[in-house]
Amino acid sequence: MRRFLVPLALLLASAPAVAQPKVVASVIPVHGIVSAVMGDKGQPELLLAGSMPEHRASFSPQQIKELGEADLVFIIGQGLEAKLSQMSGTEAVNGRRFVELAAAPGVTTLPVRQGGTWETHDHAHEEEHGHEEGEGHDEGVLAFDPHVWLDPANAKAMALAVAQELAKADPGNAALYLRNAEDFARSVDETAEAIEAELEGVKTTPYVVFHDAYQYFERRFGLAAAGSISDVSAAAPSAQRLREIRRKITEVKAACVFREPQYDNKVVATVVEGTAAREGVLDPIGADVAPGPLAYQQILRNLAASLRQCLAG
Ligand SMILES: [Zn+2]
Repeated sequence: MRRFLVPLALLLASAPAVAQPKVVASVIPVHGIVSAVMGDKGQPELLLAGSMPEHRASFSPQQIKELGEADLVFIIGQGLEAKLSQMSGTEAVNGRRFVELAAAPGVTTLPVRQGGTWETHDHAHEEEHGHEEGEGHDEGVLAFDPHVWLDPANAKAMALAVAQELAKADPGNAALYLRNAEDFARSVDETAEAIEAELEGVKTTPYVVFHDAYQYFERRFGLAAAGSISDVSAAAPSAQRLREIRRKITEVKAACVFREPQYDNKVVATVVEGTAAREGVLDPIGADVAPGPLAYQQILRNLAASLRQCLAG
């Protein structure tokens, strides 16, 4: 599965032929960012198809072998690609270079939200650092919410980090990688502006999501999410949590409850039953997006369009 089809003329032009770095990207948003930064200098391999639930990913021996052969492996990290994060830095990848983009300079992280429906009323936990160590919640392993890419500002910082890593691996194209990262940043800014306009008019309409993946997006665009059925790792909700979320939907008159294409969401129909909420779909990981250099922006645009469509009723 070699995808580095370099035109012959290019090969002949570059005197001492330096092999382009072999690059792997974990999930579609990361793959989109890396593809945009690499431009015509190669294509990253995509490790996890979009239909693969990001918190349940497992890897075949062939995939582990490819990881071992890669010069660079870009991941979100911090517990997102659960088993992959556990492998990084272990013998499984033979000391190869893993870059955790959630830890890149300029990426802003948010703590994992606590509470079944992340209460909207003011509360002792409202402050960002209000929750104590060892609170014993089901998400104790995550240092912060790993869905960092859903803030466009974070994606721009990630693109810059990708460019810098590629520049180290392939110094001859350093300027090009940095230029591509700047182009990507401009494109993301334009996308964010368009989304801002699209969401005008639905920002105060309450809704509930399937798993707690969207706080970066909500904060950036000022949305009125009222809770999630499942937690930040998409763990199966308890009966008590389902009762709480149903109560919440009625209490705040949630307009929509959103399913996700990469998870089995039968529970959504159960939660919605007997309430006035409509069912919608949100795709935070690009399950329904074609991989490639425009995939990241498409993920954001699809989120906005889905929100608008359902919330505007
Ligand atoms: Zn998630």
